[in-house]
Amino acid sequence: MHQIKYGSQLIDYELIHRDRKSLGIKVYPDCSVRVFAPQDSSLEKVESKVHEKARWIIKQQNEFLSYHPLTPPRQFVNGETHLYLGRQYRLRIELGTEKGIKLFRGRLLVGAPDQKDVERIINDWYREKAKNHFKDILERTFPKFKKYSIPFPELSIRHMPTRWGSCTPKGKVILNPELVKAPKGCIEYVIIHELCHLIEHNHTKAFYDLQETIFPEWKKWKERLEYQLV
Ligand SMILES: [Zn+2]
Repeated sequence: MHQIKYGSQLIDYELIHRDRKSLGIKVYPDCSVRVFAPQDSSLEKVESKVHEKARWIIKQQNEFLSYHPLTPPRQFVNGETHLYLGRQYRLRIELGTEKGIKLFRGRLLVGAPDQKDVERIINDWYREKAKNHFKDILERTFPKFKKYSIPFPELSIRHMPTRWGSCTPKGKVILNPELVKAPKGCIEYVIIHELCHLIEHNHTKAFYDLQETIFPEWKKWKERLEYQLV
């Protein structure tokens, strides 16, 4: 791993020497950077090239799906609304019972031994629902990529402070469990966006053309994801 300083920002990159004539830079959706350099290029020359492209690298890193919470922080008390697949449910808590959750007529019914357990019970439930829905939607969406012959990705669910989704150079798709609060169309959009990155790593015109071909409605769902605040 190598690093350059650009203004107040640090850019970490992996340097890979290849049989090639010119230097190439790739920024991946997990924000990692790889620099492919000709066999005989010196570190000094590589560094000056990375410096030259630093603004572009930072722009690429910032453009990957940014996340902001769909809802302000919750208190986990009776009457409060909670989002699930884009719909609002009113919270009704029953204390002094076994833990359990049910959706019924616009309500999120939560049974808990004690008030201090409520938040954890709800978050565990969201995570479990996220796991199932993300897996279903990925399986349903993957056939759209048939002709690109990418391998079926490993799916991982992880809270990320700034991203809805991400993917690694090895082809693993990472999704933020918060996404299960958004409508299914938004979930599909994020999954398709990440699958497109397995073919086109950077946000180039080729990337957007591919995304448009596979999911023409993507803009509508992107907006929904960015502007829905309840
Ligand atoms: Zn992206």
